[in-house]
Amino acid sequence: MKKFFFAIAIFIFLAISASCVKASAPIRILLVPGHDNAVWGAEYGNLKEAAMNLALASRIYDILKKDKRFEVYITRDKNGYTKEFVDYFANNQADVLAFKDDAKKKMQKEITDGTFVKKTNAPHNSVSEDVAIRLYGFNKWADENKIDAMIHVHFNDRPRPNVWTKGKEKGFVIYMPDSQFANSAKSVDLAKSVFAELHKKYITSTYEKEKGGLISDQKLIALGANGTLLSSVRSILIEYGYIYSLGNSTARQKKYDDMAKLTVVGIQNYFFK
Ligand SMILES: [Zn+2]
Repeated sequence: MKKFFFAIAIFIFLAISASCVKASAPIRILLVPGHDNAVWGAEYGNLKEAAMNLALASRIYDILKKDKRFEVYITRDKNGYTKEFVDYFANNQADVLAFKDDAKKKMQKEITDGTFVKKTNAPHNSVSEDVAIRLYGFNKWADENKIDAMIHVHFNDRPRPNVWTKGKEKGFVIYMPDSQFANSAKSVDLAKSVFAELHKKYITSTYEKEKGGLISDQKLIALGANGTLLSSVRSILIEYGYIYSLGNSTARQKKYDDMAKLTVVGIQNYFFK
């Protein structure tokens, strides 16, 4: 009889382990290095934010790629938009436009009904229609491709007299979706996990509207504005520091390496700890 129970116990153990292995499909991450070669974001001297975002995001990509628990995608690389996204935008232009317009209409109705409450957000540069469509397209793609987390990589800026002048603000900030959005709770936990790592080395933004370094937002398309990201698609937007505060080329490369490592640890801790 004892042997019988032992055999049953082993069988149950094996069945459970098999289902666990099956359940642990890789975590799907989409990295979005902010802006692109056409609209490059902030500028300091000869430095362009889009190139900095790409340098850092590529390092995050390379580290995550080696971790078999993750499947990692990136929207652009040194050759421009990756094939996935070139094809996606070529084949889904009308659908992306409809996705954006429908979401806006739905949100407008919720605001009128009083089911969604508008708040004031930290100021962001407004984006052109083309840029908006691209960002909504990333959200649509992420929803359709069962992405678990989108990580938007940026460097920050505040108005300065000219591109050669440094500003006075410094430090990093992580933006996360407003609590009224479906993907908020999970995104906030992910943001906190990455924040904990970055904060070991870097101070949080000294800009008054980014105080504390973790800021909710309802306007940023990247985070799922107008309810365009499913509850399963976490999204965070990291401004790693002010564009003029990274030092010379050698110092910058070191910081990219360092920031990438810390970000990955934050992501790994959130999903596996
Ligand atoms: Zn930016």
